[in-house]
Amino acid sequence: MNNHCCEAMSSHVNARCDVHDDPYACPDVLIDHSAEYQSYGLIVHDGGTSSITIDFCPWCGRHLAKSRRE
Ligand SMILES: [Zn+2]
Ligand SMILES: [Zn+2]
Repeated sequence: MNNHCCEAMSSHVNARCDVHDDPYACPDVLIDHSAEYQSYGLIVHDGGTSSITIDFCPWCGRHLAKSRRE
């Protein structure tokens, strides 16, 4: 299944690491994608689970699907 805006985005969204089960714990994972909300977040690696919702793809610049969260 590949419905992301570009190859770079899908490779980051699908990035999995053998060491960290939790993407928020892995410094190699940058993007958190919520299929439920159709939103993309830039993971803030501060040891917590915060992420910044992004409206545009950092790689191709395409407008990303609007979050259904109000
Ligand atoms: Zn893109
Ligand atoms: Zn890792």
